[in-house]
Amino acid sequence: MKVRAIQTGSVRIKSAQSQGQEHGLRRRAGVFADSKWTEWLPTYAWVVDHPEGVIVVDTGQGTHLLETGRSLHPYHRWEVAFRIERDQEIGPQLRALGIGPRDVRRAVLTHLHVDHDGGLAHFPATEILVSPGELRTASGWLGRLRGYMPNRWPSWFDPIPLDLATEPYGPFAASTRLTKAGDVVVVATPGHTADHVSIIVEDDRCAYFLAGDASYDERLMIGDRIDGVSADDDVAHATLRAIRQFATAHPTVYLPTHDRESADRLSGRRLVDVDADQRQ
Ligand SMILES: [Zn+2]
Repeated sequence: MKVRAIQTGSVRIKSAQSQGQEHGLRRRAGVFADSKWTEWLPTYAWVVDHPEGVIVVDTGQGTHLLETGRSLHPYHRWEVAFRIERDQEIGPQLRALGIGPRDVRRAVLTHLHVDHDGGLAHFPATEILVSPGELRTASGWLGRLRGYMPNRWPSWFDPIPLDLATEPYGPFAASTRLTKAGDVVVVATPGHTADHVSIIVEDDRCAYFLAGDASYDERLMIGDRIDGVSADDDVAHATLRAIRQFATAHPTVYLPTHDRESADRLSGRRLVDVDADQRQ
């Protein structure tokens, strides 16, 4: 089994989105008040080359995101910017790795934000799994108001509901196993969105934690800094705490979608060191 990173362009957001300031509503309003941008951050999707079939986690950005600067939605117009070329979309990059779209058995989405579902069109023959709560939140005009782009989903998009049993997996309250071998596990990591999930891939050496936007980078997770868009402070903190507990109990490579170090961390199999700060 092998996990690979695929960078589908990059994104820039306000720094108060990546690292929330203050609490509650003031924290969320802070994203719009902030004039400071982050650096350009990568947007990764992941390929799990598994003996039971290839699994893709998130589908990354699509070139349609280059038009968001003209959007009427205030978030898309003012608070985010994307870079992506057509051959950086996930489909062409998979083909370059020798993986045809029909070789991908399943695609799991951590959530439906536009930089995670932007490559859906490349997977017409793939089983696509999405948490039902996330699908409800993202659908229709209310979804568009919330900043999702259901209007950009392919017409055939009809994902299989990813129902997480209330079966704890380590510190995570709900989980489901994606493979018969039990080594690819979806866990509930609510916060960034209410129904956000992360995917844990276990091999005999370590766990690869495909975190989506549970935090924008590893430092923020270790430092218990929630983002600027999570609806509920307590829920978001509880998820970061669960991730730290998991990483303390298991050797873990932590792989957020937008962490500039994710690809190097994956190739060097660099483990989370939760207590590194205190020892310095
Ligand atoms: Zn997101």
